Amino acid sequence: MIYLDHNATTAPAPEVIAAMLPVFSSGWANSSSQHGPGQQAKRTLGAARATVARVLGCKPVEVIFTSGATEANHLAVRGLLAASAPERQRVVFGSVEHAGHLKLAHALREAGTVVDLIPVHPDGTLDLAAAAALIGPDVALVSLMAANNETGVLMPLAEVAALTQAAGVRLHVDATQFIGKLPFVFSSCGADAVSLSAHKINGPKGVGALLLRQGVPLQPQTLGSQERARRGGTENLPGIVGLAAALERLGDLSTEAQRIAHLRDTLEAGLRQALPDTHIWSHKVARLPGTSYVRFGQLSADVVLQRLDRLEVAASSGAACSSGGSQASHVLTAMAVPEEQALAAVRFSLGASTSMDDIQTLLNTLPPLLAPLLHEECATAP
Ligand code: PLP
Repeated sequence: MIYLDHNATTAPAPEVIAAMLPVFSSGWANSSSQHGPGQQAKRTLGAARATVARVLGCKPVEVIFTSGATEANHLAVRGLLAASAPERQRVVFGSVEHAGHLKLAHALREAGTVVDLIPVHPDGTLDLAAAAALIGPDVALVSLMAANNETGVLMPLAEVAALTQAAGVRLHVDATQFIGKLPFVFSSCGADAVSLSAHKINGPKGVGALLLRQGVPLQPQTLGSQERARRGGTENLPGIVGLAAALERLGDLSTEAQRIAHLRDTLEAGLRQALPDTHIWSHKVARLPGTSYVRFGQLSADVVLQRLDRLEVAASSGAACSSGGSQASHVLTAMAVPEEQALAAVRFSLGASTSMDDIQTLLNTLPPLLAPLLHEECATAP
């Protein structure tokens, strides 16, 4: 199988599994227990926290372990909002946030909070002028992704951080797709809070973290004593150890990003050459190295994915979490893409496991399957 769906999830790395196994078999005690095994588990937890902090450029005390990015996003937004001054109760989200995160925006709205969405340009980049206009003295926080999971477009974090800092507004960044793909340092990123997830970086599913700048007030959303009372519930120690191992093995991201960008560019150039009706969204702007969001004429994504399936290539139509339905992606809709084109969107996301052989195999096998369909489409066009 050729796996080109790394933005959906990634395979746990052998080092990650090896680090987790002893925690299941022997180091399984509750890290809050007073007895010896509990204290051992507490040391394991502390060591994992120290590793996460070292790799991500923050202090151990700034790491709050969660069940993944969705929970970290919820904790950040609800927790920062609840801790804000009464005169600051408006929230600003990016309009192309992850589908799960936008559900939170809608839920807040339904409960009476004023929520504004920052629009994007047709190339998927953030409308900074609109962001500047929305960030005012009544805003509690801005919640913005670092990189879009569908297009891969990078958001202007430094510019938005300058706006939020000038206005005394908190900034939460969902860095789920960014961390592990490009170099990231919490202490200098300008955000008050940052979400991440282990399963996007060859770690286990169901674990992630919220990094919260020391001193920033946050109201917990699950009550308990763990994580300094900021997130109650017994910590998922095997998962946390897996997250730390996944971060530790990342290595030199700039070199890996260049390798993956070269594979992505080869894929895009080859598809365009073989199938001139190939359209690539956001290819002229700064994006993640391994994300390619394409359509082949107006061939429906379902048809393309069926052909890919025959070739044993795993890719995705839009975000994985919303695939299966035939609704146009909210990201492409926000980019003013007509519905019939949005329904043709296929996402290839390359990653650590992708080789030039994978790309060449795809380029040799996919165009011959799609070319006749595109000719048919051309012939039947009005
Ligand atoms: N945020 C972004 C940008 C994502 O891409 C995803 C996963 O697809 C999530 C949040 C949700 O992460 P998790 O599966 O850890 O809850």
